[in-house]
Amino acid sequence: SSLFSAVPLAPRDPILGVTEAYNADTRPTKVNLGVGVYYDENGKLPLLECVRTAEDQLNALHAPRGYLPIDGIALYDQAVQKLLFGAQSPVITGKRAITAEALGGTGGLKIGADLLRRFTPEGTTVYISNPSWENHRAIFEGAGFEVQTYPYYDAATHGVDFDGLLKCLKEARPGSIFVLHACCHNPTGVDLSPEQWTQVLAALQAAGHVPFLDIAYQGFGDGIEEDGAVIRAFAATSLPFFVSSSFSKSFSLYGERVGALTVVLSDADEAARVLSQLKRVIRCNYSNPPTHGAQVVQRVLNDDTLRRQWESELGAMRVRIKAMRKALVAGLAAAGIDRDFSFIERQRGMFSYSGLTADQVEALKVDHGIYAVSSGRICVAALNDKNVETVARAIASVLA
Ligand code: PMP
Repeated sequence: SSLFSAVPLAPRDPILGVTEAYNADTRPTKVNLGVGVYYDENGKLPLLECVRTAEDQLNALHAPRGYLPIDGIALYDQAVQKLLFGAQSPVITGKRAITAEALGGTGGLKIGADLLRRFTPEGTTVYISNPSWENHRAIFEGAGFEVQTYPYYDAATHGVDFDGLLKCLKEARPGSIFVLHACCHNPTGVDLSPEQWTQVLAALQAAGHVPFLDIAYQGFGDGIEEDGAVIRAFAATSLPFFVSSSFSKSFSLYGERVGALTVVLSDADEAARVLSQLKRVIRCNYSNPPTHGAQVVQRVLNDDTLRRQWESELGAMRVRIKAMRKALVAGLAAAGIDRDFSFIERQRGMFSYSGLTADQVEALKVDHGIYAVSSGRICVAALNDKNVETVARAIASVLA
């Protein structure tokens, strides 16, 4: 027997499993609402025009591929900060923020988690929302933290259990780490209101907790500026905090792994020391980040014309998703469902917690070839004018 003869088979990723089952389905009317990507009105993954142009420009340069600095492309890191805080922000001019390019939002979370583990006391707990993106737990547990959940989604109201959340913020041991979705909560689509954010921020400050904001869908909620408002509210305080950025969705650059970790510290001196430690963390994870995706994003963000094009293309994605929310709600009503589904229109971003039970999701799959996550999460961006009525009728029939 070998060292590995007793290794157990790891459980399958529940979301990737949905797509495998979908691919194996031969029904022509099948629809995959289980995905976590934006599809266009033809059900295709878009290549943004701004990305195509930036790539053409880059190709023409035939640039050699040296190693990047450990923290990545400087122009990219600066562009990330401007996007998060606004170019004139005191955290930028006061050099209180540090940013390192990372391998997607996941990479930003991972190096942030490793850094925090080195400088927080043994036994520090990380709180993630209930429910959250599954990888939050895995990343922070993998970094050596104990992970607990804070109350978040309230199925009865399709809203936030805000009292539960505040209570948890107040009762958690001071100095705990709170992972918060800055906008377009995955998987529920339910965000805090600006007033609720103000209270959360005050509670975090009062307890000296460490906020870790995850922003993976900026521009998919109400707009690029609007969706970044939470980050700027945090930056207006003196509280140190972490931000992981992902451009996978907002640039449709999933496979290029473009993200970043930004940490806002108390002053420039502290920031320089923390950056030096973050570089050590990166060095022993993957040494330095890849070139292409960050070069594309940097070009787009730093060029006026490409930047406007990106804003308009991202705006079109946002508008299409909202139209699909509306069409789904209308389709359900037209199919004779009197249950109130208007909450789907109030949700933000790519996802909707539809309220469907695991049994109803199963029936959708078996009877209609419509695939969703067993939690009832559907990807609204996978709907289009051609499939939304079919989906609405199928949902109506499993609810009947
Ligand atoms: N955070 C959240 C909330 C996400 O939904 C995702 C992607 N599904 C990520 C982080 C990771 O993004 P990336 O693919 O850029 O690693």
